[in-house]
Amino acid sequence: MIKRIKFTKTKIIIGVLFLILFAVSYFLVYYYRDLIFGPPVLFREDENIEINLYPNNFQSVFIFTNDDINKLTEPGKVKNVVDILNEYGVKGIFFVIPHYKGRYRLSKNDELTKVLQEITEDGHEIAQHGLTHWVPRKKPKIINLAKEFADLPYGEQKRRIYTGRKILEDAGFQVNGFRAPAFSANQQTLKILDELNFLYGSNASIYPPPFMMANRRFAESIYYPYHPEDLNLIEFISHGDFFRTHFNSKNFMIIKNRFEKTHNRRGIFILLSHIEPLNNPQGLNLLDKSLKYITTKNLWKPNLTELALWWKARELLWAESRIDNSTLKITLEKGSELELNGLTIKIKEGIEAEKYHVIDDEGNLIKEGKISEKVVTINY
Ligand SMILES: [Zn+2]
Repeated sequence: MIKRIKFTKTKIIIGVLFLILFAVSYFLVYYYRDLIFGPPVLFREDENIEINLYPNNFQSVFIFTNDDINKLTEPGKVKNVVDILNEYGVKGIFFVIPHYKGRYRLSKNDELTKVLQEITEDGHEIAQHGLTHWVPRKKPKIINLAKEFADLPYGEQKRRIYTGRKILEDAGFQVNGFRAPAFSANQQTLKILDELNFLYGSNASIYPPPFMMANRRFAESIYYPYHPEDLNLIEFISHGDFFRTHFNSKNFMIIKNRFEKTHNRRGIFILLSHIEPLNNPQGLNLLDKSLKYITTKNLWKPNLTELALWWKARELLWAESRIDNSTLKITLEKGSELELNGLTIKIKEGIEAEKYHVIDDEGNLIKEGKISEKVVTINY
């Protein structure tokens, strides 16, 4: 005989409360994981040393991205933006639409292609922004026709990503990164990027579904890159476009405040923009004003390929330290073949040692010196 459980009113209320509590804590941990757990790297510090997250003792990272460049874009508009970036030593990542609306296909001989190739020589980067930036057929459910990847089956997504990359490669670009138009990526998109060996994505798309796709609260709480679904792919969340709709003096303050928040947490601040709305006096002015402020800080200004390669090496780095005969012995262990040039080790205050040794995992001496140096920078 199965004993029947009596559902009294109280039991039901308690049960529901538990469920609510569980759901709330699940999402809190999910959204605020970077605040709760800190940067997702194997080694940050022990009692003797701290290893900086970024090279050359930089406190944080600043990234500028620009979307929607396509065959119809006037090359002068790209130059306007690049002139400002160059003034402040910032490298831009330009997300290019390979075959805009299925009609305008970028080719090697376009004037725009030549300009884009020139800027990559200065360290700026070209990445992929979908294939057409347009839904393949009108679906009543999808109101925003720019959401190219929304509701697309796996095979069609893969074909579009593959074809788009091929067009950009044929035009002479090396493509390492992808951003889905209007943040229309889903879990499958990220898996495809991984299968096609993309180094990074910048899709702001994350599961579970109701909370995915450029959710503001989520995006603002992410400070570090991460591997969605344990993929090899690295995802970078962008922190908002302030150049798009309303240009008022408040926008500078919002950029400044959000940047400060990320900088204080040693995170990565990713500014988003679109080539057309940015190209007017107010937009370019706001960019100039923002960079003038941001670049006064101690931060790294790489492109996303440089940052992704660094992060892949940094997250797998392990270190051990001990004091032996008044020598601080630091042993580093790399978890990848990638380089860590400018790796910065900070020696903590009050260490009872006079000298330090840095040794690699095979026992080779990388660097030695005096504890009084306090900060040790190595190429590893
Ligand atoms: Zn776009």
